Formats: sequence, structure tokens, C-alpha cells
Amino acid sequence: MDLLIGGIGSKARSGREEQVTSPFDGTVIDTVAAAGIEDVDAALTAAVAGAATWRRTPAHERMRILLKAAELADERAEATAQILSAENGKAISEARGEASRSGALIRLAAFEGTQLYGDTLPLDANPGTGFDKVGFTVRQPVGVVVAITPFNYPALLVLHKLAPALAAGNAVVLKPARTTPLTALALAQCFVDAGLPEGVLSVLTGPGATLGDALVSDPRVNKISFTGSTATGTRITQLAGVKKLSLELGASCPVVVLPDADIDAAAAAVAAGGFVNAGQVCISVQRVITHPKIAGDFLDALVPRVEKIRTGDPSSAETTMGTLITEAEAQRVEASIAQAVAGGASLLTGGQRDGAIISPAVVADVDPAAPIAQDELFGPAVAVSTAADWTAAIAQANGTAYGLGAGVFTSDVAGAVQAIREIDAGTIHINWTPLWRADLMPYGGLKGSGIGKEGPRSAVAEMTDVKTVILHGRPW
Ligand code: NAP
Repeated sequence: MDLLIGGIGSKARSGREEQVTSPFDGTVIDTVAAAGIEDVDAALTAAVAGAATWRRTPAHERMRILLKAAELADERAEATAQILSAENGKAISEARGEASRSGALIRLAAFEGTQLYGDTLPLDANPGTGFDKVGFTVRQPVGVVVAITPFNYPALLVLHKLAPALAAGNAVVLKPARTTPLTALALAQCFVDAGLPEGVLSVLTGPGATLGDALVSDPRVNKISFTGSTATGTRITQLAGVKKLSLELGASCPVVVLPDADIDAAAAAVAAGGFVNAGQVCISVQRVITHPKIAGDFLDALVPRVEKIRTGDPSSAETTMGTLITEAEAQRVEASIAQAVAGGASLLTGGQRDGAIISPAVVADVDPAAPIAQDELFGPAVAVSTAADWTAAIAQANGTAYGLGAGVFTSDVAGAVQAIREIDAGTIHINWTPLWRADLMPYGGLKGSGIGKEGPRSAVAEMTDVKTVILHGRPW
């Protein structure tokens, strides 16, 4: 597959290519161009020209093109799901679920791109100012957006950037994860085929470190929208200089199960929320904090449910959990579980590795200060610990460097309200786990989990600039 430079297919200027392989069995799925610095320059040159055209394209016309792209994404959803499952290792049922949300997400963004309202300023409320002036704000596209995306949701995380950026009138250069470039190219093609003008959309496949550094430090870029690890996000903040920045980063999401909770409901939700996409979800349940009184009952309800998850060939309809993204990642998760057990935790089920597959694991008696609780695991295991009271549970929930999502199971409204107020997380779920997202909701983390919010309305706001305009009349 070629790069996309300003909407036009192009070989890497170096002529280099690289293979995309299946994490399940290593088969070669396709070959993509391996972009270099010269391609970054070509994509940004195209983007500057494309941004100038697209910002002068009326919002109703931008919306028409995005709605056509949504229709194409819907028509191509099955093909996208097949590519996605093959290159990512995600079970085909999950890949279908992800790809099937594409059209609706593009439509939500298309609408938000027509809603670039401003405010009227009541200047006469400011002492010293009368009725001789009129003030208002105008919202405009920022210009060139660089979008950098991770491997774990190769369709949705690409669209959460492309669709709002384009809807708002920006040109975009997308750098997808090296392991999952094919899904990104397939989705980008929907926008090109829908009639996006030349220059507006580029996709650079290839090595993140080289391309990323060149993209984020380039002064032609007005906005960086990054989703990925906290380590890479930190590097971007150091290189970017003065640019608008949105960062969706790592996490170690907690679920608190209080003594008055519906234990079965909590166990069923955790058995899903810790293992979707083999735990490679930023909002995956990584930690469960239970009251000692109900810890045993909760684990008794959780373990058999986790043992029902079927691992195997991602392309099989029987498989409910696929591979990790690489065998090396599976080895890292295996080692992390082993380290927790060596530190005194009990492995109740799972944790065995077969190639890039890890069997779904439940680790109990976890020390909240242990690496398996503190560091992002990004694998199919939940770490269960106890907290003697509500205050201790909240302190434990807040006791990591992250703050993306949290869940609380309780039947007590007062406890729920306290959780909403006191838990440091960008999203809080009462009687569900953090693994739940409606594409339209504001979505983003606190603390080390990032800066800014996604979701079409929030992303359009972050991908536009506000100008303040004052019309100076004369006193009359
Ligand atoms: P990653 O290693 O940080 O990579 C993310 C993207 O950054 C990839 O496209 C990567 O390219 C690129 N990249 C690598 N070095 C770069 C550099 N120096 N400058 C700019 N970009 C660079 O993350 P990942 O392993 O793909 O994804 C997993 C992480 O994403 C987890 O930490 C997860 O929590 C986080 N995540 C967060 C959210 C959220 O909403 N908060 C959602 C999903 C995932 P290459 O692939 O070519 O290296």
C-alpha cells in the first residue's frame, strides 16, 4: 500500500517498504510504504495548501463530503473489520463491533463541524465601556493538524481525530501505529473517495520515532492530537514547542466494589471490562478494590466468568479474546504477572502465554503499591486488592500517576456522589466499569493520563481557534 500524500497515493521517497504481519501466526498481510523525513516534508507542504482550500470551503459542503465518507465507511465496514482483525489480532467479533461504529462517528463529527458558533460580548458590562462598541467571537479551523494514533483501536482512534479535524475545516497528516497501518489507510480512503479536495489528508506509514519527532517539531503544524503511551506523550510535549496539544495517554483504571454492591453484577462487568481487546484498552479495568467483607464472594463470582473467555485464532467466530499486539508484549505481560506473584499476590486463574496470547488472568491479594497496580499493564489481567473503608478505597483508587476512568459499584447514592466528587478520573461510572464509551461523550484523562478531551464536540472545539472581534463605533 502507498502513502497518502495530500489525498494522492505515493511511494516513500526512499523507496522503502515494510511488511504488516499477523500477531497470531506471523503471516504477511500486506506491505506498506515506510515513510521518511522527506515524506513528512511533502505531506506538510500538501497540508498547508490543503488547509488554505478547506478552510474556505463552507461548512455545509464539508458536511456533505463527510456524510458521503460515513456512507462509504458503513459500506466497507466488513472489509475494514477483516483488515483490522488480521493486523491487530483482535477477535473478529470485536473488530466488527469497532468497524461498525465508523459511519456513525463520522456523522457526529460532520454535524459538529457545522456548529462553529461564537459568543456576543456584553462589553458595556465592563466599566469604562459603553454602547459604542460591539464585540463577538469567531471560531475558525486551526490549520494543519498532526494526528498520531496507537494500535489498540485502529479504526475508532483514527476516526476520533480525522473526522472532527476535517469537519472543522483543517488539513490533517495522520501517522498511525506501525503495527496497524492498513485500517488507517482504508478509512482515509473513504474521505478521499468522498471528494475531499487535494492536499487536505495525508497518511504517513512507517517508524513512529523518526516520523513523530519530525512532525511534532515542525512549525507548519498548528495542532497535535496524540493518543498513545505516557512516555511518547511526554516526549511530544518536550519537542512540540508552542502548539495546541491534545494528549490521550496511559492509565491504570480502578473499579471499587463496596459492601452494598450487587456482587454478581460487578463480577460480570469486570469479567468483560478487564478483558475486552485482551486488556489492551486505555479504559480497561486494571485494578479492583473490594471491601474485605465481600472480597471472597466477589472473586468466587469473577473467576468462573473469566475462565469462560475463549482465546484462539482471531478470525474464528468462536474466539472471544484474541492476541496481544506482538509476542514481545505478551512476554512483558507474562513477566508482570509473574513479578506480582513473586511479590506475594495469588494467581487465581490464567496468566499462561502461548505465542502472543495470554490466558485471561485474575491476580488477588495485590499490594496496591506493586508495579502490576501502579504501571499500565495493557494486558488481560485484573489485580484485586482490598480497602477497609470508603476513604481508604478512594485513596487507593487515586493512588497512581494516572486518572483516565474509574468505576464504582454501590447501591448507596451518597457513596456514589462522594465517588463522583473525590475520584480523580476523567470519566466516572456508577455501577459499571470504566470500559464503556459512547463516541459522542467528552473523553480524556486527568493527571498522567493526558491533556484535553476527545469526542466530536470536544475535539472540534480543540481543533479550532477563537478570535475575538471588536467593532469600534463612535459615542452618539
Ligand atoms: P505508543 O508506543 O506511544 O505509540 C503511539 C503512536 O505514537 C504510534 O503511532 C507510534 O508510532 C507513535 N510514536 C512513536 N514514537 C513517537 C515519537 N517520538 N513521536 C511521536 N509519535 C511517536 O503507544 P502504543 O503502544 O501504540 O499504544 C498503547 C498506549 O496508548 C497505551 O499507553 C494506552 O493507554 C494508550 N491509549 C490511550 C488512550 C486514551 O484515550 N487515553 C486510548 C488508546 C490508547 P509507531 O507505532 O510507529 O511506534
